[in-house]
Amino acid sequence: MTDPRRRIPRTDRLLAEPVLVAAAARLGERRVRAAITQAQDAARRGDLAPEEVAAAVDRELAATAPSSLRPVLNVTGVVVHTNLGRAPLSAAAVAALVDAAGYVDVELDLATGARSKRGVAARGALLAACPAAEEALVVNNGAAALVLATTALAAGREVVISRGELIEIGAGFRLPDLIASTGARLREVGTTNRTHAGDYADAIGPDTGCVLKVHPSNFRVEGFTAEVGLSELREVCGDVPLVMDLGSGLLAADPALPGEPDAASALAAGADLVTASGDKLLGGPQAGILLGRADLVQRLARHPLARAVRADKLVLAALEATVGGPQAPVIAYLHADPDGLRRRAERLAGRVGGTVVPHDGRVGGGGAPGVPLPGWAVRLPEALAAPLRTGDPAVLPRVTDGACLIDLRCVPEDSDAAVADAVQRALACTS
Ligand SMILES: *Cc1c(COP(=O)(O)O)cnc(C)c1O
Repeated sequence: MTDPRRRIPRTDRLLAEPVLVAAAARLGERRVRAAITQAQDAARRGDLAPEEVAAAVDRELAATAPSSLRPVLNVTGVVVHTNLGRAPLSAAAVAALVDAAGYVDVELDLATGARSKRGVAARGALLAACPAAEEALVVNNGAAALVLATTALAAGREVVISRGELIEIGAGFRLPDLIASTGARLREVGTTNRTHAGDYADAIGPDTGCVLKVHPSNFRVEGFTAEVGLSELREVCGDVPLVMDLGSGLLAADPALPGEPDAASALAAGADLVTASGDKLLGGPQAGILLGRADLVQRLARHPLARAVRADKLVLAALEATVGGPQAPVIAYLHADPDGLRRRAERLAGRVGGTVVPHDGRVGGGGAPGVPLPGWAVRLPEALAAPLRTGDPAVLPRVTDGACLIDLRCVPEDSDAAVADAVQRALACTS
């Protein structure tokens, strides 16, 4: 009898199979070869019939995506979820991003064939959405915007900042360290809970590069507190540039978030420059946005560091489509109607069981701390959380008080059925 292992198909023959040629075009030959080796090894061990090798490779590769990042249905009720990549893009932004993926005229004037300025369209969209700004610049992220501003305005000099605003933004990153890394010296004024105009006035002098006001975006100090508003601070600053780090990226005030500062109001109140993130409440791609006085923004744009933090063409495309386009998903989720959420939660509970309970969503991502977003969730056993996370599609619920809560706020309504299917599969795993 011949050894069945002799019947295991050879790699070159498998690579020529039409389905695997197609898989190689999609995923690259290296990954196809790895799947082939794996299936051949299984056949050598006797775990797979030699005739099954080609089909096993095909199955394995069909389930493989070009990127290992997996889409997640966010049923936590947290709108800007940092661990899930913050803001989901609008369909318009996704289309813009895909269009920009090939060769694009990001730095070329097609009419003349001459080189043009990078990011003019995104700049135009930002200025149209925030007319209070004279000039705009897009960089890699919010932290980069702040680093560029403090480097260009205050390297080797002082940044005056209130002790109540020396914040940690997450994952151990602290703004004071970030600013110190630029070679600017921090000149702290006031105390944790109270800072007065006189504290700033005493600190501002010939060595001041800028005064920085930071929105404490992820915590609240309550009780005996005082901070100096932008218009008062403007008076104290004189000729010294006043920079406001907004964090969240609201371009205009949102009535649903009364305590959240916005670019238009901050500039109107006297900030010379505001910095913000593109992927928080603006609802776009990861980006840092600088808006304000033309001379200052241009000074930043000319600084050598600007090149090191410049925005990618994909980001510029998606940002332009977000700012000038239809409502971003984060804005829709933020304003989701509680009655609509209740109706959807009841429909889900009707399919999978569980109880419908009131549940406050949150802005998240270091925005509007303590602002509840009233809504509803389906309460299910905690044991469902793990199979939901590892299922396909992956679903991330909120786990609290020994329960698994499913809040549909951050799910497009046409994906409710996918959530219900996923819960049913998870129930089948745990029963
Ligand atoms: C989020 C945030 C930052 C950092 O922005 P990234 O886009 O995460 O780099 C800086 N300052 C404040 C106030 C923030 O909320």
